Amino acid sequence: MSEAALPIYWHGSVDAVNEDLKKIKKGTVKELLPSAGGRPIYMVEYGTSNLPPRKANLSSALGGKDFNCYADKRGADYVPTVYIAGCIHGGEFEGTVAIMNLISLLETGVDLAGNKNDKLKSLAERVHLVLTPMCNPDGRSHIPFDNFVGHTFYDLRYYNQGIWKNGELCGWPECKQIHPIKDHVAYLGGYFNDDGVNMMHDNFFGHNANETQNVLDVCSEYAPDIAVLCHGGDNSAPHFTPLEYASGNAKRAMTEIATLVRSKYDSTELRGFENIGDRFENRRGEDAERPASFNLISAMHHCCGAPCITFESNQGLIKENSYVLNNDEIYLSHMLMIEALCEWALSKFGK
Ligand SMILES: [Zn+2]
Repeated sequence: MSEAALPIYWHGSVDAVNEDLKKIKKGTVKELLPSAGGRPIYMVEYGTSNLPPRKANLSSALGGKDFNCYADKRGADYVPTVYIAGCIHGGEFEGTVAIMNLISLLETGVDLAGNKNDKLKSLAERVHLVLTPMCNPDGRSHIPFDNFVGHTFYDLRYYNQGIWKNGELCGWPECKQIHPIKDHVAYLGGYFNDDGVNMMHDNFFGHNANETQNVLDVCSEYAPDIAVLCHGGDNSAPHFTPLEYASGNAKRAMTEIATLVRSKYDSTELRGFENIGDRFENRRGEDAERPASFNLISAMHHCCGAPCITFESNQGLIKENSYVLNNDEIYLSHMLMIEALCEWALSKFGK
């Protein structure tokens, strides 16, 4: 598929995102730590952060048996915070596109196609929104196009996961078996920043790449009530992946949110959301012989205590016997998911 065939609202390249961010008037744009390759990374905020001064980080607050020492959300006027981040992996553009359209909706009243979505707009205006449209601009720059719709599974693996020096596809899960991967590949895929770091599996308890630290800092500082990393998941049905190392409350919350997203999908033409809520609770991933990976969403959870979610989008690849969404369906699947996040966060505080 040529770039010319992309929908008008599909703003997902480094340049398109940076140009759109320059036009922001109602939101607040903040520059975070730059990428390994020196590219700027931006956060956009709407609404007012209303946390009182912090007395402790989350670990110490819980050690002191009082979450409120970290983030006191008991005020009647508390406005819940929703954090959404896109492009953790460079070849997973779908969430970035959704975030840029959400920004357009809040700035102009219409999305980038000129369409209204008053329901989402009014929900988004009632929460404190923290958005990082493109967490990994290095990885994004490793992909020479803006969309996988109409591309092949080979393209996905080549450009997103990369090529070993012997010319073979790195593939999944092998692309995670060497980290950082930079010195071992002939083509550095979109998963990675320019140093070959995959943010999902950074050295959380040691030294993180700037891209990873940005996400953890946002979680620690803004204490979101819900945080979502937008990923692309091949041609799977849109779904959440389990939050392995987290409180029971956070896992139960993920089930509630998944059910809400599913109900929204069921009321549209969308062909389903994989409701895997039962995977979130009662998992004992750490007890398995090969324990589940402690990845970025678990690290985020331990910064803020909130349900932190990996949303995997369908990517519309040409792939036999698979589930294929088109661009409009991919876009809709995100906007309904974001609607559910806002509704859930508001309802948690009786709003
Ligand atoms: Zn991903």
